[in-house]
Amino acid sequence: MQWYYEGSQKSVGPISEEEFQSLIDNGTITNSTLVWNSTMTDWKKYGELNGPSAENTGRSTSICAECGRGFLREDMIKYGDSWVCAQCKPVFIQKLKEGVTVKQLNYAGFWIRFGASIIDSIITTVVNLLISFGFGLMAAVASSSSDPSNAAIYSVIGTLLSLCITIGYETFFIGKWGATIGKMACGLKVVTPEGDKITYLRAFARYFAKIVSSLILLIGFIMAAFDDEKRALHDRICDTRVVRK
Ligand SMILES: [Zn+2]
Repeated sequence: MQWYYEGSQKSVGPISEEEFQSLIDNGTITNSTLVWNSTMTDWKKYGELNGPSAENTGRSTSICAECGRGFLREDMIKYGDSWVCAQCKPVFIQKLKEGVTVKQLNYAGFWIRFGASIIDSIITTVVNLLISFGFGLMAAVASSSSDPSNAAIYSVIGTLLSLCITIGYETFFIGKWGATIGKMACGLKVVTPEGDKITYLRAFARYFAKIVSSLILLIGFIMAAFDDEKRALHDRICDTRVVRK
């Protein structure tokens, strides 16, 4: 609602509800200041809006954010920067509730996630096979050469690289896009309980939590099939959810 008030020389406005309230708070607008808004037929002293009691007592008053009428603050409820009169409180709260749209998450079930993980294992397996092959070849060449000690170094580097790629693949893709290639292909995403993207750190931790899930006959993974939010054990550990986009 837009307000106008009588300044020292001329009328000032339009000003917003918040500005109007701050002028009341800092004393620019007093009970004797003439004010007007579009719901009023004529200019009135601000004090008159609040009824005779406020004018006489000089107690703090505010404008109801809902109906625009003035009330004693002691009869009102404050929500953030807004004051609301007792009469408007139910309507105001209802509006607040409607304004807060709760994100409804569409949790992804066990089988689609299983499908996504097969795609991911194919990708990581192929990459790791190529690495093993490359470094294995180098190790073989080194072992037949004059300095066979290089062979061990090549196989260690190859093994470490494979490990880094497996961890890095999960961490990078989930941290950056919320999904590995397999999850993207299946339209899945790893998110926080609120539906937001997870951090690289959480994606990194989730990789190791997945190892825990894979222990004891993959029971940690199978748990997703029976959970009401379809959480696998690693989702419980890292407080994540897998959703359909
Ligand atoms: Zn009201």
